[in-house]
Amino acid sequence: MEIKNVLVTGGVGYIGSHTVLSLIEHGYNPIIIDNLSNSSEKVLPRLEKISSKKIKFYKGDVCNKEDLEVIFKENKIDAIIHFAGLKAVGESVQKPVEYYRNNLDSTLTLLEEMLKYQIKNIIFSSSATVYGIPSHVPLTESDPIGKATNPYGQTKIIQEGIFQDFSFVHKDYNICLLRYFNPIGAHPSGMIGEAPNGIPNNLMPYITQVAVGKREKLHIFGNDYNTPDGTCIRDYVHVCDLAEGHVLSLKKLAQEPGLVIYNLGTGKGTSVLELVHAYEKATGVKIPYQIDARRPGDVEANYAATTKAEKELGFKAKFTIEDSCRDSNNWQQHNPNGYDD
Ligand code: NAD
Ligand code: UDP
Repeated sequence: MEIKNVLVTGGVGYIGSHTVLSLIEHGYNPIIIDNLSNSSEKVLPRLEKISSKKIKFYKGDVCNKEDLEVIFKENKIDAIIHFAGLKAVGESVQKPVEYYRNNLDSTLTLLEEMLKYQIKNIIFSSSATVYGIPSHVPLTESDPIGKATNPYGQTKIIQEGIFQDFSFVHKDYNICLLRYFNPIGAHPSGMIGEAPNGIPNNLMPYITQVAVGKREKLHIFGNDYNTPDGTCIRDYVHVCDLAEGHVLSLKKLAQEPGLVIYNLGTGKGTSVLELVHAYEKATGVKIPYQIDARRPGDVEANYAATTKAEKELGFKAKFTIEDSCRDSNNWQQHNPNGYDD
């Protein structure tokens, strides 16, 4: 079956917006639904400017059947990429009910509507967090699901379980669970990027805010881990590489029924200090930092085994860490206050 019209839930957000551009580049027709709970409407004209294409946008909530039905009645949707969800680890500890309600309801409502409208292809944004505290690295897709350390992670584990159970009975549905490692970077145009509200929780947006003088210095959470320089190791993947991973997954969906799981990462671990140094090298901007206590819940080292995605999807990250630093910096320098500028 040929896939043309792709509903992108959460398509105004960080990863969704970059994926919308990749979809257009590859000849797909993305249609967005987003409730703008964690994104700005200003993304849309920018996407249209970069792609020179009018993009259909529905302001709506994926948890709300009526909002979805308007779209399914007006468009023949061939596939869905489901990004919509709440994603802040710390906030999820403070607001567990909100996180469970939004992340689980959105997926359940989508699946009900997919059955009703016979939409048989879906890609879901999962996360490396489902592996819990890794006993070894790199992490392969056949490694067991771990124990979540926060409600956000638990919602991803439960959502994966929902898809597994759904797939068991609906064998003609094509489902792809993509476990992202740490997305960083921005579109090279500098027009779209990551724009967190308030103090960033994640490392790269914190660094970029230090780079533009919005924050005085970076606080590095611990340098006494059992790693070469004592700081934690992660797999930082450029958001444009991730976006391409979704296009490749769509092609795969069209070929093979059932449920498939892929890690999307670079396969390379980078420590916090290495990232800081790469940023300084790529941009020429000095990032002052101080070493603080460990952050509770942090895992020491985490990076992807990429063989399966490479073999089966043809996915291989093209951007280097320096490229990612350059593009994150470029975005922040042009938009020091994100979309509020
Ligand atoms: P984001 O917050 O930038 O984008 C999510 C979008 O979904 C936002 O635009 C938000 O307004 C929208 N949204 C949330 N709930 C909605 C609902 N009920 N109905 C309609 N729209 C809704 O986040 P992102 O970084 O682009 O992440 C996208 C997905 O990838 C999320 O599911 C996230 O959990 C997952 N993920 C992200 C990371 C990361 O580090 N960014 C890592 C692993 C997995
Ligand atoms: N980190 C840090 N200072 C910050 C934010 C993050 O030292 O202000 C560290 C954090 O302890 C972890 C790494 O950077 O070792 C990546 O953190 P992030 O929250 O971006 O990703 P995650 O831990 O969820 O993989």
